[in-house]
Amino acid sequence: MTVAKMAPFRFEEVAVEQGAESSPIYRNLRRSLPDLPFRSVADVAPGANAASVSGDRFGAAKRTLYLTRHKGDFFKKCPGSEGQVCCNYFVINFASNCPMDCSYCYLQEYLADNASLKVFSNVEDLIQEADRTLARHRGVFFRIGTGEITDSLALEPYTGMVGELIPYFAAQPNVLLELKTKSDCVESLLKLDPKGRIVVAWSMNPQPVIDLDEHGTASLSARLAAARRCQDGGYRLGFHFDPMIEYPGWESDYHSMLEQTFEAIDWRKLSWVSLGVLRQTPGLKRTMRERFPRSALLTGEQVLCPDGKLRYFQPLRVEMYRKMVGWIRRAAPTVKIYLCMESREVWEQVFGFAPSCEKDLGNQMAPDFH
Ligand code: SF4
Repeated sequence: MTVAKMAPFRFEEVAVEQGAESSPIYRNLRRSLPDLPFRSVADVAPGANAASVSGDRFGAAKRTLYLTRHKGDFFKKCPGSEGQVCCNYFVINFASNCPMDCSYCYLQEYLADNASLKVFSNVEDLIQEADRTLARHRGVFFRIGTGEITDSLALEPYTGMVGELIPYFAAQPNVLLELKTKSDCVESLLKLDPKGRIVVAWSMNPQPVIDLDEHGTASLSARLAAARRCQDGGYRLGFHFDPMIEYPGWESDYHSMLEQTFEAIDWRKLSWVSLGVLRQTPGLKRTMRERFPRSALLTGEQVLCPDGKLRYFQPLRVEMYRKMVGWIRRAAPTVKIYLCMESREVWEQVFGFAPSCEKDLGNQMAPDFH
């Protein structure tokens, strides 16, 4: 069966901060986007606040790709969410914002005042900073993600960023690097040896949800085809069934998505599966109303939780998780499953236990060779 590849992004220009031309990322951008205008800039515009743009300023910010030097720390602990069980995760941000446009994307609020689509040019600083931390704590096992404020792979065909990072991280004894995506942009990964240290993880939803609310992302079949190619290329895989959306008929759509998923890949090589329901702050919901007024995600009933996020009522969440866990266990009996940003009570009702602390959960997610 031929699987349609996702459409390329339509950038209007690349804006290069002065001094970033010596970066390997600049070289990759020049090579991959030969027909696009490149403009030299002294500084990066904040994007969403650009006075020249009226209407959807957040959407407009995605059309200029900035290459700029990152001035702060690259490496930090995942902030998690207050009162929720955390999985002891670290993040590295090599880009900011995303060329895709999911209606529920929290970046619409998180990056509202700094929405420019940026890729950071100083890869060598990133690697040096990671190396200082990993070398200083060889007894600690690090699970590191790159998809906190961007999609890890959507920009890869243009920037080649991940191709620059994998050789370093694959050689480290105490790390798993997770690349989380809704794209099918895995070509550059397949030329590299991940040495068992790289997890490529897909955020998954049934095709009807992708069609309505995950604009510009790869189809479900394209994500699964890319996952299979990565597995064949020696990569570990992860799946995040998140955000799960409740709507009439959700059970059959999610059940059939899980069946497709576990038919496409060998679940024994899955590193982890996470589950999470739709969550939005009231502020994000206001932005969604402006940008995606026809989204069905604006209508379901939700309650405000202690971390300031709206979620479905707890009994509904528990029911959704229990059904998903049952379907997953039937197909993949021993795969590691965790809940993302959920309370202890929900954990207990779904699994009969809650991790005693975040380190405990982090260790459970660490691979067997740890
Ligand atoms: S793929 Fe992720 S980062 Fe990109 S728009 Fe969708 S939710 Fe946001």
